[in-house]
Amino acid sequence: MSTSPYWSALTASLTPYVPGEQPRIDGLVKLNTNENPFPPSPKVHEAIAAAVGGLARYPDPNSTDFCQAVADYVGLPLDHVFAGNGSDEVLAVVFQALLKHEQPTLMPDITYSFYPVYCRLFDIAYRALPLKDDFSIDLNDYLVPNGGVIFANPNAPTGCPLPLADIEAFLQKQTDSVVVVDEAYVDFGGESASSLVSRYPNLLVIQTLSKSRSLAGLRVGFALGQPPLIDALQRVKNSFNSYPVDHLAIAGATAAIHDVDYFEQTRQAIIATRTRLDDALKARGFEVLPSATNFIFARHPKHDGKALAAGLRAEKVLVRRFDAPRIDQFLRISIGSEADTDILLQALDKVMAA
Ligand SMILES: *Cc1c(COP(=O)(O)O)cnc(C)c1O
Repeated sequence: MSTSPYWSALTASLTPYVPGEQPRIDGLVKLNTNENPFPPSPKVHEAIAAAVGGLARYPDPNSTDFCQAVADYVGLPLDHVFAGNGSDEVLAVVFQALLKHEQPTLMPDITYSFYPVYCRLFDIAYRALPLKDDFSIDLNDYLVPNGGVIFANPNAPTGCPLPLADIEAFLQKQTDSVVVVDEAYVDFGGESASSLVSRYPNLLVIQTLSKSRSLAGLRVGFALGQPPLIDALQRVKNSFNSYPVDHLAIAGATAAIHDVDYFEQTRQAIIATRTRLDDALKARGFEVLPSATNFIFARHPKHDGKALAAGLRAEKVLVRRFDAPRIDQFLRISIGSEADTDILLQALDKVMAA
């Protein structure tokens, strides 16, 4: 990597987030970035096609149609919803608006690796608290002075869910700072904390259309919280980019939220394939963490994780592995189609026999 005297000190100090590869290889079975194997709802195509005529104008700065669809879907008022360009952008706004304080923001040591990247970019103090030996989050560990708390539920890359009762018990004690629950995977078996938003003024829930609604390429995510928290997000947003979600994305994302039947059908299919893959991996001797997501986190007691990932890659099956303490032996395998799963298991048998 080259550096340059033109760079700011901040730029030189950054360690950017590393996304999963998006290689262009024919016939690749891509199970490394938790994308949905199903295409978006056909209603999304229609809505985007119909919206093209409106492109000469700036989009609605508040993404009102989309936020109203979300509000109706989750049963909260419109002023409880904030939209952004993917939940990554929503998170960027949240860190600046709500998590930058004198006390550190608390997060698990093993979680979505974008959180510490944002802390460094925005100069936010943070502390990473270790997961338990079974890779679960114990929220009792977070009852210490803090400037905010953020965790993913279900967590990533472990896939493990935290019961809603644990989150509510925590919210009853942790009232002095904001608690952010990143629910990127909640539609695959977790319990959403959105039902607690109207009762806890310091709770913010974040979701995305990237995973459970097959729209990773459209970049739409949202936050749910009481108006003072949403207003904080609006203030930061309107100091940076007043039109975060583009006109086509608003149209497509709104249609995706409205098509509840398609959503139910595709997420149930993914959950069924996850059960199949979970059984198949266990039958091959893998230790599989309990997953409530569209991926599985698994390690084999006799096969090195790095060698398995490399072997699968040679068979044109891409999975993700993290070079981090405690989890470097694990493979994170996104749930693909049934056909993808056939190819994955054949490749795995070949690599393990070699
Ligand atoms: C995928 C993911 C995101 C980001 O999703 P986008 O909406 O595509 O930006 C956020 N948090 C977690 C935990 C994720 O896995």
